[in-house]
Amino acid sequence: MYAEVIVDLSAEAVDKRFSYAVPEGMALTPGMLVTVPFGPRTLDGFVVGIKDQCSLDPSRVKPITKLARHEPVVLPELMELADWMHDRYLCNLVDALRLMIPSELRGGRVREKTRRYAALALEGDALEQFIASNPRAKKQLEIVEQLKAGPLETAGLDSAALKALEKKGAVVISAQETRRTPTALADERRTVDPELMPGQARAVETLTAALDGGGRFLLHGVTGSGKTEVYIRLIRQALHLGRTAIVLVPEIALTPQMVSWLHGRFGADAAVLHSALSPGERFDEWRRIRSGEARVVIGARSAIFAPIQNIGCIIVDEEHESSYQSDHRPRYDAREIAWKRAQTHGAVLVLGSATPSIATYMRTERGVRPENRLELIELRQRVKNRPLPEVEIVDLRGEFDKGNRSIFSERLAIELQACLDGGHQAMLFINRRGHSTFVSCRKCGYVVKCDQCDVSMTYHQSEENLRCHYCGNTMAPPKKCPNCGSVYIKYFGAGTQKVEAEVARLFPKARVARMDIDTTQRKDAHQQILDAFRRGETNVLVGTQMIAKGLDFPNVTLVGVVAADMTLNLPDYRSVERTFQLITQVAGRAGRADLPGKVILQTYEPEHYGIRCAAAQDYRAFYTRESAGRRLAMYPPFSVIMRVVFASKSSDSARNAAEAAEKALDAWVTEQDLHEDVLQLRAAEAPISLLRGEFRWQLYLKLYFRADADAFAERLRALADEAPEGVKGELEVNPVNMI
Ligand code: ADP
Ligand code: ZN
Ligand code: ZN
Repeated sequence: MYAEVIVDLSAEAVDKRFSYAVPEGMALTPGMLVTVPFGPRTLDGFVVGIKDQCSLDPSRVKPITKLARHEPVVLPELMELADWMHDRYLCNLVDALRLMIPSELRGGRVREKTRRYAALALEGDALEQFIASNPRAKKQLEIVEQLKAGPLETAGLDSAALKALEKKGAVVISAQETRRTPTALADERRTVDPELMPGQARAVETLTAALDGGGRFLLHGVTGSGKTEVYIRLIRQALHLGRTAIVLVPEIALTPQMVSWLHGRFGADAAVLHSALSPGERFDEWRRIRSGEARVVIGARSAIFAPIQNIGCIIVDEEHESSYQSDHRPRYDAREIAWKRAQTHGAVLVLGSATPSIATYMRTERGVRPENRLELIELRQRVKNRPLPEVEIVDLRGEFDKGNRSIFSERLAIELQACLDGGHQAMLFINRRGHSTFVSCRKCGYVVKCDQCDVSMTYHQSEENLRCHYCGNTMAPPKKCPNCGSVYIKYFGAGTQKVEAEVARLFPKARVARMDIDTTQRKDAHQQILDAFRRGETNVLVGTQMIAKGLDFPNVTLVGVVAADMTLNLPDYRSVERTFQLITQVAGRAGRADLPGKVILQTYEPEHYGIRCAAAQDYRAFYTRESAGRRLAMYPPFSVIMRVVFASKSSDSARNAAEAAEKALDAWVTEQDLHEDVLQLRAAEAPISLLRGEFRWQLYLKLYFRADADAFAERLRALADEAPEGVKGELEVNPVNMI
């Protein structure tokens, strides 16, 4: 017998099936993980096929060295999915296969954690006799005494003595497997079901009915409408029918409530998969899923590859989040994979959001072909008919005229004071970390930039340094202008640290906490910050978009959006959409229980439709306006954007590569007679022209949505791979960001 193996090495040159001989007695099936000789090395490999013939000279076929586990690690369905991804995302097959297993399995780095226990093998007279005949083995007798009370873990006992006892037959040692429990799941409590609101009940009815045969839905519910409860009822019905569920959330650490709610309802049926778990924890959770013990999987993007069978429903919460799209190879979209797996299993797919992405919402419109269509379910009311928070727009230009130089407008300061006086809590949102966003010379205008990237450095007060948010480079703040020698160096632009400092300075009653990448490096740091806020130990939470998602704190009555327009004018066609989503989501954190909520939106562009619609929390109005704009400018989903980024230590090489690729693509388009499909094709400097010490040029391509995008992508991938020596080419299709 021969096995076809994909070796665990990501390179196009080895993106093919290699044949190996199956040693006598090794029971192999596709999906198994093996070790194979590869040139001078030994590599892991995935078995993708078994055959009884091999076209190679049998003497040249090497045998498989070892079988890693006696069960397939990749299920047949996921093997097929990997094949599909290989074509769809133009990745190496092994890149896709790697996503299907916890990385700990590769290279055999983690094993089942076993504890070993020692127990007495003798009792009564036999035991007494043993003790009497070994009077000088003090350590051994000590252990025997201890074990009289019952078995003990071997770890705490003298190992030499234990070994001797085992040899003499007085003690037996047994291994027992234990599972590591992730902290998020450690406290197990069962919660009772609330009575559903009429809208929730209708949604549950429609969704559960679709468990018979499958269906695809967009659950569009305003913030606080109780979407989670709808998910829970759907999952429960799926389990009742003997099926399973996957729930995707943007980032586990930021959605602790979702995890605890699901766990509260499903107990040990639930498993959590995410990157902050220790390798051992992740491996154990994966095995609980693989064995069928856990039937509800909760996780971030990559949990969509969970080895779960007989799926009844797949839920993608906050579907508009860009974290569902991978920004490195393979550049897959978890929503697309969810769509695909739901189809394979005849499962119900639910994409849920208060602010669906434009592209997703468009699929609910009439006229969309059935295979692309989503059925729209709306929850227009908050739970218990609570009102949406009242939003007030504050024009920051007016504040400046009044002579207010603080980052807080008069209105925000008054409301924050009132909120604290009332014993309530506030959240202040600003989508930048650090203290000041750039440092510049008042005399000549010089801006301090990273020497590895073409971006300005951010001042961090707590560390007293300047940092590059792209490469992590740090430097001491300059005392004199490096350009003109002037000492008038000024710090501009506010980030979370500055807001935190200002709150502390202006509001003595405030007990302020900050949540951003810098304060959440440690494991479980997110949870600690959020728990302290929930317990009321802190009463003002300052944060980046980390605080915008699904958080539910009943005592929060005020949300301040410190700079609503900060992300409005970025060079990306989605910048208005993202701003609208962020503001609407963060505004939705206010007034979620019995206390009414208030939102103060500070902006320099109070007339902008993105700001206006977010203030009105009017998704439909925003959608109508934004989709019309996209149609007019031919941006996705009315077109497909692709680019190849060429990066090199040499600016000229990067440029030449991009320009050569442009010529080559143009020639190909002419030859294939595809000019009608191309809206734009050009080589240009990337928006960030220097990143981590590499110069970046890009070949940018915009296609009509009806063009054969796959053919273009394939051609571009070839051009990326053909980049000359010293230049890296990377293809991106509808990239998450355009830096
Ligand atoms: P969304 O995700 O739509 O913003 P959540 O799922 O976070 O809303 O629900 C908001 C709050 O309402 C949560 O505290 C939740 O426990 C509660 N809730 C949900 N449904 C009900 C209900 N039918 N009755 C009472 N409370 C509910
Ligand atoms: Zn200067
Ligand atoms: Zn940098």
